[in-house]
Amino acid sequence: MIIIGNGRLITRDLKTPFVENGAVCVQGSTIKEVGNTRSLKDKYPEAEFIDARDGVIMPGLINTHHHIYSAMARGMSLPNHNPKNFMEILEGMWWKLDRKLTLEQISLSAFTTYLDCVRNGVTTVFDHHASYGSVEGSLKEISKAARELGVRTCLCYEISERDGEEKAKQAIEENFDFIRVTRSSGNNLQKAMIGLHASFTLSDGILDFIGGENTVGAGYHVHVAEGIADVQDSVRKYGMRVVHRLRERNILGPKTLAVHCVNIDEAEMDVLKETDTMVIHNPESNMGNAVGCPQVLDMCRKGILTGLGTDGYTSDMLESMKVANILHKHDTKNPSAAWGEIPQMLFYNNAEIAGRFFDTPVGVLKPGAAADIIIMDYIPLTPMNGDNCNGHILFGMNGRNVVTTMIDGIIRMRDRKLKGIDEAAIMAESREEAARLWKSIGGEIMQ
Ligand SMILES: [Zn+2]
Repeated sequence: MIIIGNGRLITRDLKTPFVENGAVCVQGSTIKEVGNTRSLKDKYPEAEFIDARDGVIMPGLINTHHHIYSAMARGMSLPNHNPKNFMEILEGMWWKLDRKLTLEQISLSAFTTYLDCVRNGVTTVFDHHASYGSVEGSLKEISKAARELGVRTCLCYEISERDGEEKAKQAIEENFDFIRVTRSSGNNLQKAMIGLHASFTLSDGILDFIGGENTVGAGYHVHVAEGIADVQDSVRKYGMRVVHRLRERNILGPKTLAVHCVNIDEAEMDVLKETDTMVIHNPESNMGNAVGCPQVLDMCRKGILTGLGTDGYTSDMLESMKVANILHKHDTKNPSAAWGEIPQMLFYNNAEIAGRFFDTPVGVLKPGAAADIIIMDYIPLTPMNGDNCNGHILFGMNGRNVVTTMIDGIIRMRDRKLKGIDEAAIMAESREEAARLWKSIGGEIMQ
């Protein structure tokens, strides 16, 4: 038994949202009790005590859209790559990179990304993987890294016909193989979905084929109307906008993550609501790719379950929260906008989304929930309570404040030191492989 206490406790449980000198008692992989530090210590004197030293104790964060495979692109420079639109970013960079990835590079991308997640207090990661150079066994490599670092994760492989029928079939197999393995293992730390790249790289034929194979009712994880080209393609080829097309092909539903939804109209939002499809917002990526600002505040108003991801841009969910906060103020020219919706997405909706896949509740500190807990070394300079803690997080914290990360009842990082992992060796190997990868796609290594 472990007690994490002596901190300002933010629970995300509406019954007891905040405890001034709070503690969480953990037994095995779940939370046994939440309360005052003194009373929990008195009640369970035999428990190991982890001192938060007046910092903040809160649930581990959840990233509902990540791209582990993009890790090795950090700092990469491709000659003559000056994209003018989103399609040129995909074709000129990401597709070039993922066609060259080896299984070893995928494994290292997974280790370095999950390490970064643990460091940033992100304990649950939904990944969307692509590596058309090495399709078979790629999810197994990511799964192995997640297992070793103890991160809770939901994986899929993004099926696309961009590299032809044979590669698309391999991608389909990779998803269903991993779904079979995950389901038979009964492991609550790992779940599987079916990854779809996007409407414009998938024909009706292949979507129907995938639907026919999906006898277990697995959810889909798909980019939706991220760039305007996706919409134009759908209207030109199928005579309807992307969300309508995906509904016709039976892709939408309560287990489907519709990522981005930048270029959707009101009628499409209504379809997402009707089908109880989830939307994932990735503010930094949308701004970086210059695709536009999704109208997620309207989606929230309509009652669409909208979560927050990073799309591979960062592993720091608090960074994503900060950018979302100012993006929607800027977009609506309203300084009062988005105060409620963005914390709702990160702290409550992401937990609800994860709850549709994982068996134990995550993102909340209450009895019976998963023991995914982080400690931040944040000492407030103004009064802090359950009503204003999101303001403290927004303006006072970032991922680097995380000092201790527990996942499923196991301490994975303590006082910023990762447990049982030779981080320096992994990073050194990753740098070496990244240089090899860059060279293989004609990248330049700056000296
Ligand atoms: Zn993405």
